[in-house]
Amino acid sequence: MRILVTNDDGIMAPGLLALRRAMAQLGDVTVVAPTTPQSAVAHSITLMDPIRVHRVSLGDGAFGYGVEGRPADCVKLALLELMPERPDLVASGVNLGVNAGINVLYSGTVAAAVEGAFFGVPAVAVSIEDSDAADFDGAAQIARRLVDQLLARAAGRPILFNINVPDLSQGPPAGVRVVTQSLKGWREGWEKRSDPRGRTYYWMIGDLEPEDVGIDSDVAALADRYVTITPLQFDLTDHARMEEMRGWGLGLER
Ligand code: MN
Repeated sequence: MRILVTNDDGIMAPGLLALRRAMAQLGDVTVVAPTTPQSAVAHSITLMDPIRVHRVSLGDGAFGYGVEGRPADCVKLALLELMPERPDLVASGVNLGVNAGINVLYSGTVAAAVEGAFFGVPAVAVSIEDSDAADFDGAAQIARRLVDQLLARAAGRPILFNINVPDLSQGPPAGVRVVTQSLKGWREGWEKRSDPRGRTYYWMIGDLEPEDVGIDSDVAALADRYVTITPLQFDLTDHARMEEMRGWGLGLER
């Protein structure tokens, strides 16, 4: 099995190297990742600038491709230019910080997996709860075990999964749950400061809002220390609304 490993935290991020180690137990890994941190760039791509690619040492004699671009650029380049054969899996992560709730839409980690799915390649995004002692290897091994099972179940169908792992420094997870993406958003906050030249600037702060009682979502399950899996799709059409709207008699003559 050929596996593309990428991320949005950059090619030197420990989570990427941990995912590479874990995925190497499943097949031949090629690393193509941004040269600089790209968290929260979502599905942006580079159109107006050249994209340079560098051979980057991964520390154990192996090399990866460092891409001066976005996570989605990395996957496009990998699939169309850098990998001689199309991979059987795109694995993105391990991201520092869970990609649950509305963060799924901001996430460069998830976008890289979605980009793989655009090409019909099975893809998985992996993230771990932010902590000073994030156990990336533990999260990557959990991802490896789940990927193994998910690929077997998928049986060649296109699949796209978002996996989140709770903080493992507090002990093993409670189990694994298949849950929906929470619709909870970011508890918005801004800190207004002055720079040394007296000019105002803003810094975004805040956190994910906790889930409402009774909703079985990624945010809720992570709060209960479960590993979460959410099957994703990139069809943004509101199909239920389509049917209703066709009955609205919309026209251009009013
Ligand atoms: Mn990130």
